Amino acid sequence: MILAIHFLIGAAIVLKIKFLPLALILAFLSHYLLDTLPHWEYSIENIKQKKWKNSFKDFLKIALDLSLGVFLVFLFSEKFFLALIGGLIAVLPDAFVFLNLIFSNKLLEIGRVFHQKFHFPEDKKIFPLWGIFSQIIIISLAIFFLL
Ligand SMILES: [Zn+2]
Repeated sequence: MILAIHFLIGAAIVLKIKFLPLALILAFLSHYLLDTLPHWEYSIENIKQKKWKNSFKDFLKIALDLSLGVFLVFLFSEKFFLALIGGLIAVLPDAFVFLNLIFSNKLLEIGRVFHQKFHFPEDKKIFPLWGIFSQIIIISLAIFFLL
């Protein structure tokens, strides 16, 4: 699932659940739950294959995706700083996977394997529009709860 959605859901959870430690744990766990849903993702194949010379576009996609999440949270939430923390906690599992692509180590590899256990299989075919539609529904829900 794209980072913007994880970010929005994490922000919404932290804003709605008043007991912060629980909210942060749920924001983190929401990542794995959302990744189980059938969804479309953009390719970062150049980063995955460590083709650094061709990877600028991949890094740009990630930066734009994350920026979209931050921007939407900025637009729709009143407590921006708190929402920002929730959003960042919710994207951590992907951050660990991403860091493992660049600086592989045992701990990050454990994170990657754990993430992969929950992630909807990338090679599994789904109705193409559903992969986008599911994310539009989740974004709409997140914005609804942020307001
Ligand atoms: Zn993920």
